[in-house]
Order: sequence, then C-alpha cells, then structure tokens
Amino acid sequence: MWAFVLNEIKHERASTESAARNDAMNLATAFEAHVHSVIRLMDIILLDMREDVLEHSDFHSYVRGEVEPYGSFVAQFAVINKEGRLMYSNLAPEAEPVDLSDREHFRIHRDNPDVDRLFISKPVLGRVSQQWTIQFTRPILQNGQFAGVLVHSVPTSFFADYYEQIDVGPNGSIVLLGTDRSVRAIASGSPIIERYGQFKVPQSKPYFDASSPERGYFEGVSSLDGEYHLGAYRRLNEYGVVVVVLLAPKDFLAAYRERRELLIVSAGVISVLLFAAGILIFVLSRRYFQNTASLRLAHDQLSQFANTDALTGVSSRRSFLHRLEAELARTGRHGDCLSLLMLDIDHFKRVNDCYGHPIGDAVLKQFTTICTRMLRSRDLFGRLGGEEFAIALPHTDAEGARCVAEKIRLAIAQAPIMTPGGTIPITVSMGLACTHVDRVDVDQLIAKADGALYAAKHEGRNQVRVAGEQQGQF
Ligand code: GH3
Ligand code: MG
Ligand code: MG
Repeated sequence: MWAFVLNEIKHERASTESAARNDAMNLATAFEAHVHSVIRLMDIILLDMREDVLEHSDFHSYVRGEVEPYGSFVAQFAVINKEGRLMYSNLAPEAEPVDLSDREHFRIHRDNPDVDRLFISKPVLGRVSQQWTIQFTRPILQNGQFAGVLVHSVPTSFFADYYEQIDVGPNGSIVLLGTDRSVRAIASGSPIIERYGQFKVPQSKPYFDASSPERGYFEGVSSLDGEYHLGAYRRLNEYGVVVVVLLAPKDFLAAYRERRELLIVSAGVISVLLFAAGILIFVLSRRYFQNTASLRLAHDQLSQFANTDALTGVSSRRSFLHRLEAELARTGRHGDCLSLLMLDIDHFKRVNDCYGHPIGDAVLKQFTTICTRMLRSRDLFGRLGGEEFAIALPHTDAEGARCVAEKIRLAIAQAPIMTPGGTIPITVSMGLACTHVDRVDVDQLIAKADGALYAAKHEGRNQVRVAGEQQGQF
C-alpha cells in the first residue's frame, strides 16, 4: 500500500511540475505578444509625432490633441534639443528648460546620430512628471543632422497594471527586463522592488546569454525575491527586452501538497487500523490456541483418568479390554500367539475384615507393584474389578506364560506385603489361556482364562492353572 501511495505522490508531483512549466511557457508567450504590440504602438505614435514636431507652429495644441485619447497611457510627451535641454513637455509647456543631457535616452541618440532607431530606457523618475516612467525615444533629424530627441514617457504602472490582471499566484511574478539587466516593469504577488533603475539582474541568467535560444525554460533561485522559482522567458532582441514569467512552487504545488498530506494521512490511518486488526487477530488466535491447548490437556488428563485405575495406577478395565482387543487383532494378523492371565487374590475379603478397607487398598497397591516388576514394557496389566486383575502377554505361548505366572505367584507368596497395619502375607491364584492353539476373540479368551482361574481356586488356591489342561474339571 505504501509503495502505491509513494508512487502516486511521485507521479502527481511530476505531472504538477510539468503542468506548471506549460503554464509558464503559455503566459510568457501571451506576455510577449502584449509587449510586442505595445512597443509597436509607441513607436508608431513617436514616428507620427516626429513628422510634426518640426513643422507644427502650435506644437503644444497639436500634442495635446494627439495625446488626449491615450489618457494615462502617456505620462509625458517631450522634446529635448541637441544640447540635451528639455525644450518642450506637454506637462509643463511654459517651464524653464531642464538639463537632461545626462539621460541615457538622450545620449544614446546623440552619440549615434546615424542610427534612427527606437530606444526603450530603463525606468527613470521623471524630473517633470515625478513618476517612474519608461522612455520610448526616437532621434529628431534635421537635414540628416541630429537635432534632438523626441520622448514618449510611459508609466511603468501601465505594464504592471496589465500584468497584475494575470494570475501567476501569490508568489509568482511577471517581469519585463531590459537586456541591460535592469527591470522595466514588474507585477508580483510578493513585494519586490520600488527601486527601478538601480536593481540589476545577475548576468548569469540564461535569458541574457545572446547565444541561448530566444525562448526557454529555467528554474532556480530568483534574484528578485531570493525564492526558488520555475520560469519561462522570451527575449525580444530587436527591442532589447526580455519577458520573464516566474511561478513559485509553493503556489502551484499547494493543491498537490494538500492531496499528498491527505494520501499520507489516509494511508497512515489504514496502516494503524490494519496494525490494530493484526494485533486483535493475534491476541484472539493466541487465546484460541491457548484455550485449545488447555482443552487438549484437559482431554488428555480426562482420558488418562478414564484409562487408569485410580487406586493402583494400572489400566482400567475399559482400557485394558480395549487394548487387549487391539493386541489380539494384531496377533491374529501376524499368526502370532498371546497369553492371558487372570489373577485373583486369595481370601482377600479376610484382609479387609482383619485390617480394614484402607489397609486392603494398600495391599492392592503393593500387589500391583510387585506384578509390574515382573512384566515387560509391552505386556498389558489391568484391574478388572475388586481384587481381580488380568495380564496380557503378547508373543508368549502357554509355556512362557506359565513361567511368568509362576514367577508372579512365587513373588507374591514370598514377598511380605508391608502395610501400615503390619506385614500381611497373601497368595494369588491364576488362570491362563493362550491363543496359540486356535483363534479366539476377547470374550472367549477371557472366559477360558476365567475357567482356569476357577479351577485354581477350586483346587486349593495359590496356584496357576492353564486352560485346556486335563488336570481339572473345567
Ligand atoms: P477368594 O479366595 O475366593 O477369591 O476369596 P476372596 O475373599 O478374595 O473373594 P471374595 O469375592 O469373597 O471377596 C473379595 C473382596 O475384595 C470383597 C471386597 O470387600 C474386597 N474388595 C473389592 N474391591 C476392593 C477394594 O477396592 N479395596 C479393598 N480394600 N477391598 C476390596
Ligand atoms: Mg474375587
Ligand atoms: Mg479373591
């Protein structure tokens, strides 16, 4: 998700910058067209006036009539004689001549008498008009000789007011520069200069390089306000001016930045929600697995409880019969043999009667301990009920089983059973049945072993009888 968001932000920034570059180029083109047409108009007026300046006897009323329709567009119309003295100004026709020989727009014509061309000065504070104006000038030639300069002053505000109407953003600028690097007119959202004529734009700017294309695009820190800008320019070589449009990233990237913040905040919120959901799932699943584990443990404990005889710790009747059945099935499949011993403690009732039930319990426990010692790990030992037990001996024929049974019988008869009530001698009788001869099921096998046990009891107890032997009556 974050990769998508970052890619989207990168893509949007690139397209916003590309759109701003196009905007700057288009504005510069429109601006160039305006400058071009204004300059041409100024020159036409100048040329028209120059025809009459030498001929009209009442030049003042002629100028007043000509200039009136232009309104504020014309700040002043003036004539400077060849010595540089202001001979006429429509603003103060009766005033004493003022010395203007130091003005660039005078000297440029005086020093180049052979060149009849339009000159556009940098803004100057008019000595008569008292306002910042740009001078559009043409030389006055009399019989091919330099006879003075005709001056048409246009307020810088004329250009600036027009540029103000164009939206370049609160931090953008439209600038009309001379190729002499001074600012002719400027419109800007940020306060830049009220120092026309003094300020010089650095030479390093691409638009001052005469070998660079006449139109182009650039970006960098502006010398006007020290801010980073993206700009487009048009250089009008024939008039010695450059049109520059500057757009500020903080303006044209504003919408992009808002959207970027929205995207980042949304992605952040989604991430936090996903993280929270992840934690919730983790906690719930951990709780679930913990519950499952404790359930499994409880189940295991329960089945252990159900499968084990609580008093002696040997298999319960249910568990023993279940395992015997499985063992018998396996034995049958492999053609193997299995022997079953049924054990019953002799006269156990007397133990209870003499020593009490708890001592009887202790005897039962010790009895199973002694038996267990005689058995292999694969043998099954279970308590069928009361003082009756059964032992299954896999892979053991009747002879082998008889040996085991005898060992047990002797161990029980010889080992003194130690109880809190003293040493109690006991004996055990056993019946033995084996699957060796023919295949039998659990019930049949138990019945046969039971029959043998009955015979052992009947014939005096403390002995082992094998089912099927002719010795008894079963
Ligand atoms: P026999 O030699 O014929 O087997 O005689 P017996 O007394 O052992 O047999 P009987 O079936 O008459 O008595 C079994 C006694 O085992 C009766 C009962 O009180 C006792 N018994 C059964 N279960 C328990 C037990 O869990 N604890 C104790 N202490 N005694 C038990
Ligand atoms: Mg019994
Ligand atoms: Mg008994």
